[in-house]
Amino acid sequence: MLTKLELKELASFMLQDTLYVSLYLDVDPKNNLKKDEWYKYFKKASRDVLSRMTDDDRLRVQPDIDLIDKYLKKQSETLQRGLAIFSNHTMDFWKVYHTALPFTNQLVIEHDPYIKPAAAMLDLYQRYLVLLVRGSRARVLIADLGQIEELSIVISPRPEPDKDRDGNWGDFGKIRAEKQKEQAQKQLYKEIRTFIEKMQRVEGIKRIIIGGTESHRRTFAETLPDALKNRVVGEFAVEYNASPKEILKVCTPIMKDAEYRFERKALDELFNQGGGGDGSVIGLSDVLDQLQQGNIRKLYVMQNMVVSGMVCNNCGALTPERERKCPYCDGDMRKVNHMLDLAIQKAIDQDARIDMLEEAPRLVKAGGIGALLRY
Ligand SMILES: [Zn+2]
Repeated sequence: MLTKLELKELASFMLQDTLYVSLYLDVDPKNNLKKDEWYKYFKKASRDVLSRMTDDDRLRVQPDIDLIDKYLKKQSETLQRGLAIFSNHTMDFWKVYHTALPFTNQLVIEHDPYIKPAAAMLDLYQRYLVLLVRGSRARVLIADLGQIEELSIVISPRPEPDKDRDGNWGDFGKIRAEKQKEQAQKQLYKEIRTFIEKMQRVEGIKRIIIGGTESHRRTFAETLPDALKNRVVGEFAVEYNASPKEILKVCTPIMKDAEYRFERKALDELFNQGGGGDGSVIGLSDVLDQLQQGNIRKLYVMQNMVVSGMVCNNCGALTPERERKCPYCDGDMRKVNHMLDLAIQKAIDQDARIDMLEEAPRLVKAGGIGALLRY
């Protein structure tokens, strides 16, 4: 599974005099009307790309193309819906990711792994922690717009209540049973809180949806600390034993609504702070400038936009297209086609957050890229 940790690793490659082949495929059977249409795409795209390269470069990447070809021929049975492969045999580098959502078919050969679609996948399709609570039990699921997975069932230890010696429930026994029930519930909530914190830390899942009857949801929500309460983006009522598929159906509108709200909020933040204030910058030139200074806190990039630019062969600085030498070290510069991707990688290297936006005409007009600054 593609994770935040992996992405950070991919983004850490320096631009070197070596070539990476990055392949993204839509292997979803629903989108491939003829069987293995994605394989035909790969064959054609690799022929096209290779034919545009110099003889030297072609010789360098042919072994990677062959490796991928060999892998694809074996794989058609085990595929999910999306497939990403990164290969550089001279660096002994080979990574394969299967994803639950399809990619747009794309073959890119550059000096570093092309990660924009993968970053978009992780950020666009935010994952949600879905908690179904009932008394001292809870089910935990992870969902995004398209799939849901049941993780584990958390059941708190709940000892059988003691009966008194006659075998009858005395008043005392009833009170004790109530107390034990309460304790079991508290224990459960504590376990869930620990679990939520772990999911945030490891996988960056920050959004929570709570399901159950109204009273169970209320009891549970009351026990959450404020920091976690703020992460709850919605609640829903569903039978405790509902199937994951049914749960996803109820959660989907909640997730869509949350995505929309977060996207609006992001853009307001970007544009209200921009234009005069020093909280944000908009447009390629200013963003790259701030990136060079390590001053990006959060980068916003339009998905599906391709912008070209320059990269310095000497210091790795990124600039918009220019004729002159590197403004930072006077080194020679070369043109790259996927500038936004390089900006994303650099931002990830600086521990900035990335947000890929889908619908933002204002940002498209401004060049497809903007950022919130650290200082
Ligand atoms: Zn330079």
